[in-house]
Amino acid sequence: DVKAPSNFIRQIIDRDLAEGKNDGQVVTRFPPEPNGYLHIGHAKSICLNFGIAESYGGACHLRFDDTNPEKEEEEYIVSIQRDVEWLGFQWAGPVRFASGYFDQLYQYALQLIDKGLAYVDTQSPEQIAEMRGNYNRPGQNSPHRERSVEENRALFERMRDGGFEEGEAVLRARIDMASANINLRDPILYRVRKKAHHQTGDKWVIYPMYDFTHPLSDAIEGITHSLCTLEFEDHRPLYDWLVEHVEVSARPRQYEFARLNLNYTVTSKRRLKQLVDEGHVAGWDDPRMPTLSGLRRRGFTPASIRGFCENLGVSRADSVIDMSILEDSVRDDLNQHAPRAFCVLNPLKLVIRNWPEDKTEWLQAPVHPQNETMGTRQMPLTREVYIDREDFREEANKKYKRLVLGDRVRLRYGYVVRADEVVRDDAGEIIEIHCSYDPDTLGKNPENDEGQGKLRGVIHWVSAPLGLPCQVRLYDRLFKVPMPTRVGEGEDFLDHINEASLQVLDHCVVEPGLKGVLPETRYQFEREGYFCVDTDSDENGLIFNRTVGLRESWPR
Ligand code: ATP
Ligand code: MG
Ligand code: MG
Repeated sequence: DVKAPSNFIRQIIDRDLAEGKNDGQVVTRFPPEPNGYLHIGHAKSICLNFGIAESYGGACHLRFDDTNPEKEEEEYIVSIQRDVEWLGFQWAGPVRFASGYFDQLYQYALQLIDKGLAYVDTQSPEQIAEMRGNYNRPGQNSPHRERSVEENRALFERMRDGGFEEGEAVLRARIDMASANINLRDPILYRVRKKAHHQTGDKWVIYPMYDFTHPLSDAIEGITHSLCTLEFEDHRPLYDWLVEHVEVSARPRQYEFARLNLNYTVTSKRRLKQLVDEGHVAGWDDPRMPTLSGLRRRGFTPASIRGFCENLGVSRADSVIDMSILEDSVRDDLNQHAPRAFCVLNPLKLVIRNWPEDKTEWLQAPVHPQNETMGTRQMPLTREVYIDREDFREEANKKYKRLVLGDRVRLRYGYVVRADEVVRDDAGEIIEIHCSYDPDTLGKNPENDEGQGKLRGVIHWVSAPLGLPCQVRLYDRLFKVPMPTRVGEGEDFLDHINEASLQVLDHCVVEPGLKGVLPETRYQFEREGYFCVDTDSDENGLIFNRTVGLRESWPR
């Protein structure tokens, strides 16, 4: 295992440990809101939080930040756990839920009320927003700011008991309406939401806000380093204020790092959900999606995603990472580890006229040409084979390293063949090539070669009677432009969807050794790219997804 490179967060932890802070403990957490599937941006946070816990012998918690009953669903809770485990991480202790702390958080709110640090505001939401001010204008105190502790307690209990409708009352922290930091202008801590919650059912009709819940959940769990993205930097003073004024034994601290942004895609759950809900993709796990389940179905490996995140590093500088870097990470991994196979994407029949009708010869090929320990595979050569349409031309110059009428190529791991004649259908399209093979060329070059020139090249092939029919799905980037969300007036990110991002080939043929392959098995189809067996694939219908081509191919 490679030692993770240092970064500014690890340096902070090293310093804390050297100073004996937190009794030498390192406890982090990954806190997704269950309102969508995890995407590649979350992978950065997962690798950071779990990676730190692993290398410091600490613990990383998985906590669902589930304070918003409207947008959350059980499906997301299940998928998020599956994706974290798929990446190869295990959280310490049980799966946690912020909603599991609702009773405790309610008590913390009462503490603030008792200290005169929170009050119930019964102004309308519009009045509250208006009096909050903005960057140029300080806020104004609410007329309800001076309510007595008793009155606030009674009103807060009434909120809890359902005595207010949504928008009629909120609990606010009593901090400073003139603060330059708007987050400190008496932020809302609790609001009324008469909605059932996926974990707590109908027990609550008031729900704590994220900014109240998050620091106190961290404190309850004994989180030492609470790592979040830069947009929460302005919330840190409120984080610290709450941890300080509520009676908690732990002292978590928040540190911010830059989000991962990738070009040619979107990394926002809201937009990804829109793509799913409006049918622009087939689902959250569509192989074009930057979700972890989409990347998985596409054929990405956990190791490639972890390696990608590790190489990115962690900083406080915002940047946009090129999609090709993510693609390279899986290409490198699969180049080393994926078994090789032959698959013909656009079949054209080649008839070897001097090959006996019923003869099948089993040829040997390495599973991986650079790794003998992966063994060999057997491929049947028969009188009729398929080659790719792209691998034949009636005429071509010397740069074309494939089969040309009257010239020769090697059928990879087999014999040298010469194209003698083409057969056309009524429309004039070539439907067969008739050729002859040289029986003395298995594993060696043709003898008596005078005047014939060099072989043009080596092409892949699959036995026509014994090959397995399959479907191949070729994926491309989901957006045509690098920054689909940076759009002009009246434009929408959906205007930049790449309509050609999925091409389905229904008549492909793969070598017979792949019979019965299980979903998620990955291959290099020689000369074509890296492919993964789709989750919908079965014995009656083999389906492969192209993960990436053999080399970078964007822009086209
Ligand atoms: P989105 O904007 O997609 O809704 P989010 O930040 O609201 O993302 P959460 O479920 O709250 O999603 O995210 C869980 C954790 O993952 C948070 O700590 C968040 O900071 C982190 N995270 C989310 N997106 C990214 C990203 N693009 N890069 C790095 N970390 C991210
Ligand atoms: Mg969030
Ligand atoms: Mg969000």
